[in-house]
Amino acid sequence: MTPADPDPSTSARSLVRALVVCVFCGARDGADPRFVALARLAGDRLARAGATIVYGGGRVGMMGALADAALAAGGQVIGVIPGVLLDREMGHTELARLEVVADMQVRKQRMIELSDAFLTLPGGLGTLDELFEVLTLRQLGEHQLPILAVNDQGYFDTLAACLAEFVDHGLAGQRDVAALERFASLDAALLRLGLAT
Ligand code: AMP
Repeated sequence: MTPADPDPSTSARSLVRALVVCVFCGARDGADPRFVALARLAGDRLARAGATIVYGGGRVGMMGALADAALAAGGQVIGVIPGVLLDREMGHTELARLEVVADMQVRKQRMIELSDAFLTLPGGLGTLDELFEVLTLRQLGEHQLPILAVNDQGYFDTLAACLAEFVDHGLAGQRDVAALERFASLDAALLRLGLAT
C-alpha cells in the first residue's frame, strides 16, 4: 500500500475485477407483472453488488427492465445485439457499451466470451435458446462457468422435469443436466455467485 491508498479495503477491492454476469430473460413483459418486477430487481441487485451485466442489449420487455434498473442503480451494463434486431428490440442507447454484432450466433458467442456466469430468468424461446447454448457448450467441456436459473414460482419446473425424463431415457447425462442450477429465489442465486450475504 502506498500513502496514496488511504483505505486498504477499497484499494484491495479495486484490484479485483467485477464479476461479469450474463442475464438471459424475456424480450417481452409476460402476462404477469411479476416477470418485469423480477427483471428490475435482478438489474438493481446485480448493479448494487458491483457486478457487470451482459445481456441482449434491447430496451423492450424484461430485458429493458433489467438494464434500466441496473443503470438507475449506477451499474455497468454491456449489451450485445445483432444489427437486424436494433429496431425490433430497440437497442438500448444509454449503456456503457452496446456491441452490434452480425447475427444471433455471434451474439451468443460474444455474450459467453464476456461472462463469468449465466443467470437465467423466466423467458421464452430466445431465452431457452441462450440457456441451451451455454448448457450444451458446458456438456462439451467448452467452459465450466456456473449456469443458474431463478425458478420464480416454479417457472422452470416443467423444463427440469423434461430434462430429468431425458436422463431416464438415457439420452442426456445426469451431470450435464445438473449443470443447470435452479434457485427458488433471486437472492439464493445471487448468494451462490457471492453477490449477496
Ligand atoms: P425471448 O425469450 O424469446 O423473449 O427472447 C429473449 C432474447 O433471446 C431476445 O433478445 C431474442 O432476440 C433472443 N433470441 C431469440 N432467438 C435467438 C437465437 N436463435 N439466438 C440467440 N438469441 C436469440
